[in-house]
Amino acid sequence: KAQLFDKGDTTNKVTFKDVAGLAEAKQEIEEIVSFLKNPLKYTELGGKIPKGALLVGPPGTGKTLLAKAVAGEADVPFFSMSGSDFVEMFVGVGASRVRDLFRQAKEKAPCIIFIDEIDAVGRARGKNPNMGSNDERENTLNQLLTEMDGFGSNSGVIILAATNRADILDKALLRAGRFDRQIHVDLPDVHERKQIFNVHLRPIKINETVDVNFLSRQTPGFSGADIANVCNEAALIAARKNKSFVEKQDFLDAVDRIVGGLEKKTKITT
Ligand code: ATP
Repeated sequence: KAQLFDKGDTTNKVTFKDVAGLAEAKQEIEEIVSFLKNPLKYTELGGKIPKGALLVGPPGTGKTLLAKAVAGEADVPFFSMSGSDFVEMFVGVGASRVRDLFRQAKEKAPCIIFIDEIDAVGRARGKNPNMGSNDERENTLNQLLTEMDGFGSNSGVIILAATNRADILDKALLRAGRFDRQIHVDLPDVHERKQIFNVHLRPIKINETVDVNFLSRQTPGFSGADIANVCNEAALIAARKNKSFVEKQDFLDAVDRIVGGLEKKTKITT
């Protein structure tokens, strides 16, 4: 089974420079960087630093990237786990993993704990009785709530969690003192897609036929992850044709391929 969390990894630092677009989300999350870097500035006046924030938005829009960038900017360790890892856990294991994670994080404070797909554990209790082993999920959720309440708000541990469904989360998670702040991370518009292309074109050898403005107009509805995918696919397509540069047509072929993939995904889910 895959490792549940990075053990406070500070290598491969991600910073705000790696996150294109998302100006508003970056601005909101900047405050958390400041809390981590300079806690006394806030607590000396009697304020309580928030324990957590929820990053809400569609898949692939950069929520994980943004959480990593907070750790990178504040230069603190990054612990992460995914809610979906707990779904098939044996009885008692989910809760003890949560306990473990918080114990390790407290030792390394200041730091970030990132919980991806929090809806997998944090779905409202008592709903969907047919999905997964519900008792175990509830135990894990209860442990998470206990841990969040158990440490002081000025402990230096800030918990970021990501979801694309804030509406299905248990209200207990959203209560004051827990994830009481939401930061929206939406699909990029045409200007933001251009910025994301610019980030992911950096390592690609392109020739003058490639026009970033054109590419960003050709990709409405694409997420940052889709755009990263297009750039990589285009490079592979060109390489397969033994080209020494990646050209406009390779990008168009890559876009077609990704659109095909997206259509298939939609068919399955609807
Ligand atoms: P999920 O909900 O599926 O976990 P996510 O919102 O956490 O997705 P990330 O894992 O952060 O998305 O994004 C996946 C990859 O897509 C990133 O590693 C990066 O390469 C690219 N990407 C996404 N958004 C951006 C962005 N705003 N700027 C640059 N790259 C991006």
